Formats: sequence, structure tokens, C-alpha cells
Amino acid sequence: MNDRSEKIVMLPQGELRVPNFPVIPHIVGDGCGPDIWEASRPVIDAAVQSAYGAERRIIWRELLAGQKAYDTRGAWLPEETMATIRECLVGIKGPLTTPVGGGIRSLNVALRQGLDLYCCVRPVRYFDGIVSPVKHPEKVDMVIFRENTEDIYAGIEFSAESAEARDFYMWLQKKHPERATKIRFPYSSGFGIKPVSREGTERLVRAAILYALQNNRPSVTLVHKGNIMKFTEGSFRDWGYELARREFGASPIGNGPWLRFPCGLVIKDCICDAFLQEILLHPADHSVVATLNLNGDYCSDALAAQVGGIGISPGANINYVTGHAIFEATHGTAPALAGKDVANPSSFLLSAAMMLRYIGWDPAAGALEEALAKTIASGQVTADLAEQRSGATTLGTRAFGKAIISHLPA
Ligand code: NAD
Repeated sequence: MNDRSEKIVMLPQGELRVPNFPVIPHIVGDGCGPDIWEASRPVIDAAVQSAYGAERRIIWRELLAGQKAYDTRGAWLPEETMATIRECLVGIKGPLTTPVGGGIRSLNVALRQGLDLYCCVRPVRYFDGIVSPVKHPEKVDMVIFRENTEDIYAGIEFSAESAEARDFYMWLQKKHPERATKIRFPYSSGFGIKPVSREGTERLVRAAILYALQNNRPSVTLVHKGNIMKFTEGSFRDWGYELARREFGASPIGNGPWLRFPCGLVIKDCICDAFLQEILLHPADHSVVATLNLNGDYCSDALAAQVGGIGISPGANINYVTGHAIFEATHGTAPALAGKDVANPSSFLLSAAMMLRYIGWDPAAGALEEALAKTIASGQVTADLAEQRSGATTLGTRAFGKAIISHLPA
């Protein structure tokens, strides 16, 4: 390890202190993960060098997780991996195989829960040269803040005809008989419980607002289904607006409920089904989106598809209070592509650019994004993108990485 390396730390005032040679843990990932890592690491290092010369450099530290960890350590997510990420704060990962029949339901969920990474952040923008199913994909430029710890994902479910489901129904009948009568087929119903809290909502909406303010975004849209789920999704909306008034001095526009911040930022809301129409019909009206876990899942895939970027969209899971953040390729392990030097590393690279921004290395992030955009626009792309457009040159994973480096500023 470079003897000038240091760890990133969270200062008491809530800011990251990032040394010039920060130790950043990375998980290579399973399946196509190694192909992607091998091609991406030189690109990330070159982007940092192009922005800062020899002054700054990432000191990568490999951590084990997934199949590789299971094969060598007998654990899908070794404690050492969690401990190192906890200590180093910021990390990046490739795709991980979901263990079948193991004790862990999903490694991604385990990482999110273990570090309380309450924001799933997904920027969605169009890259010139990507084939999209809509006429004006360039009008999409949104950043989705999806709540990551609550909602139906909390995993409180009782399967139909189980003793638990029967117990739950009996309790409901006893305590709230008027509600129990609303269940049409009680004895063959499964049940799911959806917790949505004020604290969980506030920390997510606060992060979305701060992001919008720091990045001069024009609006934050709270996306919910509060017309039906009044005390969960409806409260999400109300708590979001309350927070904007209380902590940021936002005031009503006309009769409300939309609010305007002193700097001009607008906070508004939209019911989720209408939002799915909005993103097709008026995408330019939405900029930062704050939403609940399940809505966020639907909306981020729909938006990524709209810009043709479902396979190349980046993502991050962040706790803005502790500073913990894991940046990740959003696709799976693509086992059929593993070891063939054909996988597209763009999702991982754009996640790396998000990570560089998160640690305040914006010039390096911008250089990486611009070089990737230029490479795609030039028609030199990996097979998944080449097959969608005529006249493109198909490059292998590593060659695509080299092409991106050739587009970095000298
Ligand atoms: P997948 O994303 O691996 O594959 C879906 C399709 O997309 C396949 O045709 C694949 O070839 C293609 N694809 C994916 N990544 C690509 C890339 N970088 N370049 C070119 N083409 C790419 O999804 P899956 O097949 O449902 O899942 C495979 C495994 O990955 C499972 O074990 C699943 O649990 C896991 N998974 C992990 C993550 C993660 O770690 N974030 C996410 C989703 C799935």
C-alpha cells in the first residue's frame, strides 16, 4: 500500500475529509465483474490523473464478497469486508451473485442494511448515440432518491394459509373488526406490512433537497401513492412538505401544496401512476425525485429504459449522516458473458464517476463522464450497444476502456 494513503473520514460538522491518496475498497464482483473491473480501473485512475496529475490517486483495496468470498473464505459476505467498508466509508462494487439457499437473502440488501444506506441514488440522463424507444430521450435528466430501508421491502409478510397469516387475521378481527371485514377472502390471503416512518421519510427527502440545492436543480418531486395509502405514502408526501417548510424556509406557491424555497427551488408532488405518464409526456418538468422504496424501483427502471440506458445506468447507496456510501454497477453478473471480454463496463464507470463527485473530485468525475460520452457518441461501443445501431464498431470490454482513456483530456 502507498505509504501516503489515508482513510476518508466524516468530520463532526458532517463533511467528508478526503485525503489526496484515499484508500477506497472495491469488490470486483462475480460473473462479468472481473472483466469490468480490469477494464475500468485504468479508466478511473486515468481520469483522476488527467484532472490532478500526480497530486491525487486512489489507493484501491480489494475486498471479498459473493462467490469469490464463499469459495475462498466460506462466507458470502465476510465480516472483514463489512468492517473495512465501515472504516473506510466509501466503496465501489461490481455485480454479485445472489446466493441460492444460503443464509443471506441478497448480498446487496445485506450491505444496505448493515450500513443503513438509506438513500438509493440513481441519476438518469441520455447519452448521445444510445438507441432509445422514445423520440426525445435527451429531455430526461433526473436524479432519483429512492428510500432504501422501509416500505414493503422491510420484509414483513405472512404467506397465505400459514399459521402466521391466520394469527394476524384473528388479531385484526379482534382489534379492528371494521377493517377485517374489508378483506375479501381472509383465509386464503397473504399479508404484507408496509412501514413508512417520519424519520425515514425526512432523512430521504432532506438528502434529495440538499442535492437539489447543491447542484442548482430547479425542482424536487415527491412521488407517492398517497391517494390510496394515506398513512404511509400520503404521510410521506406531508412529511416531505413539512420538512421543506421547517428546515429550509419553503413557502406555499398560491394555495399550495407546492412550495418554493427562498432560492427559487420548487418542491412539488405527483401520484406515482401519473408520474409514469409524466416521465413520458413532460420529462423536462422533473429534476430531482424523492420517492418510497417500491415506487423508486419501478420509476428508476422505467426512466433508465426511456434513455436506452437500462444496462448502463449507475447507482449508489448512501447514508449521508455517517458518510457511508457504496457505488455499484446496477446490472447483474451476466454469467454468460463472464471471462469473454464482451461486457459493457459503463454502469460501473458511471458509478465510479458518481463516487468521484461524492468525494469532491468533480473535475475527475466530469472528465470520466465526458470521455465516456464521447466514446459512445463516436460509435465505438461494446456488443450490447453496437447491436442496436448501424455503423457502430464493436469493441471488447478492455478495448472500450482504452478508447475512453484516449478521449480523456491530456
Ligand atoms: P443480469 O443483469 O446479469 O443479466 C440480464 C441481461 O443483461 C443478460 O442478457 C445479460 O447478458 C445482460 N447484461 C447484464 N450486464 C451486462 C453488461 N455489463 N454488459 C452487457 N450485457 C449485460 O441479470 P440476471 O441474469 O437476472 O442475474 C444474474 C445474477 O446477477 C443473479 O445471481 C442475480 O441475483 C444477480 N444480480 C445482481 C445484481 C447486483 O449485484 N447489483 C443485480 C441484479 C442481479
